Amino acid sequence: MREMALIVQKYGGTSVATPEKVIEAARQIRAAREDGNQVVVVVSAMGGATDELLRLASAVTARPDARELDALLCTGEAASAGLVSLALNHQGVVSRSFSGPEAGIRTDHRHGRATIVEVDPRRLREELARGTVPVVAGFQGESIATGARTTLGRGGSDTTGVALAAALGADHCEIVTDVAGVYTADPRTVVGVRRHTSLLYEEMAELAVSGAKVLASDSVDYARTHGVDLKVRSNSSAVGPRTWVGDGRRAAGAAAGESWTPVGLGRPIAGVAGRSGLVRCVLRRITTDHVLRLLGELAERETEVELRRYGNLGTEDAGDIALTLPEDSVEEIRELLADTDRGIRLDEAHWTSNLARLSVVGLGIGRRPYAPLRLLEALRSAGAARTDLHVTSNRLSVLTGRGDLAAATQIVHDTFLSELVTPLVQQAGPDRAGTAWPLAAGRGQHHVALPALAAAE
Ligand code: ADP
Ligand code: ASP
Ligand code: MG
Repeated sequence: MREMALIVQKYGGTSVATPEKVIEAARQIRAAREDGNQVVVVVSAMGGATDELLRLASAVTARPDARELDALLCTGEAASAGLVSLALNHQGVVSRSFSGPEAGIRTDHRHGRATIVEVDPRRLREELARGTVPVVAGFQGESIATGARTTLGRGGSDTTGVALAAALGADHCEIVTDVAGVYTADPRTVVGVRRHTSLLYEEMAELAVSGAKVLASDSVDYARTHGVDLKVRSNSSAVGPRTWVGDGRRAAGAAAGESWTPVGLGRPIAGVAGRSGLVRCVLRRITTDHVLRLLGELAERETEVELRRYGNLGTEDAGDIALTLPEDSVEEIRELLADTDRGIRLDEAHWTSNLARLSVVGLGIGRRPYAPLRLLEALRSAGAARTDLHVTSNRLSVLTGRGDLAAATQIVHDTFLSELVTPLVQQAGPDRAGTAWPLAAGRGQHHVALPALAAAE
């Protein structure tokens, strides 16, 4: 008989968006308990609630105080934790809800984008020992420096789930969401995607930073650092299709009676992802001295900016640089350029907005000679704008127009996926969540599956 496992289940916004969904989540939590597991639940705000709170804040002030904005945002998760607990109690499961600070989540002081620095799991352990189900409000913690409530950045409940799983030594962390796992691209917008049965942390981390929001990128880094196996599955069924994310050395999910063999190096790509809302600023004839000063300022403010330096490398001569930044930090950067460095002539700054970054992720992709060529050819055939191609070992990224992103993503996905021997796989159809997809007909006629096919359904 299987030993009792400890599982952290994180329910995302769409999984608690309505009373019916909350009741269904409670039913799945109860079922996991009846299967002999201990369960700790983490919840996001009900779908759309965080956006609504942000809208309210901006209706009251254009420049909200960061501490108070976090105090407001924390209420979204607090509400759903209470509601899920009520539903569990109603179904006969003794449950108590906790805020992030009550659950022992301590962070740094950066409001709106705090990092978890410490988790004290004692209170949750006491609850588990009593046989109750703790339901923890995700996305929030308490600043060690100030004691104020902080939030972890958009999608941050994933990180709460992983951090609690690590601190409690849980067998794995389940990410319960509105799709049945991690696919080769966003199944809502790209046709012909495949679901991975398993992914390595490295692949998932690259997909997450590239914009695949199914997992917050901090949560993947946290999972990798602490060796937490992740199981991504649909809220419509606890037993249907899923994706395991792990390090490949252990059989992730073994405690859950499931195992998998990751074959990251055998598959051509892990996926394609995009991020829009970017702006590019080119500064002409800027000296190395200025570049260093600018970088110092940006680092001090912890502004998210990516720098590309062109030309004249290794000399003190003036050269051109390009910065890429999220559009919500444009004002801040403009002010910074204006006050800190009179040496930069602002009329020499060229801004381009409405940009997006398209990334193709695959282990070793940057070392495959044909990969950048295929990417650029695909973008050209889609008539999409393209600039700043950036190659790292596991990722190719290129800037394109926001309006070009959807078509470009589809064609790039088709291009890279066609490298696989195709038909022996399951494909996602219109109802992506929780549906068993029939295998393509004619199994016998097709070629031997590559290792990649074993991992991509
Ligand atoms: P939750 O509310 O459960 O946290 P999110 O909206 O944050 O859910 O993340 C799930 C969404 O991520 C899916 O609905 C899907 O549109 C999107 N997504 C983007 N890329 C991928 C991908 N490669 N695989 C699966 N889902 C993806
Ligand atoms: N509610 C927060 C958000 O919408 C956190 C989360 O959903 O994980 O970003
Ligand atoms: Mg999310």
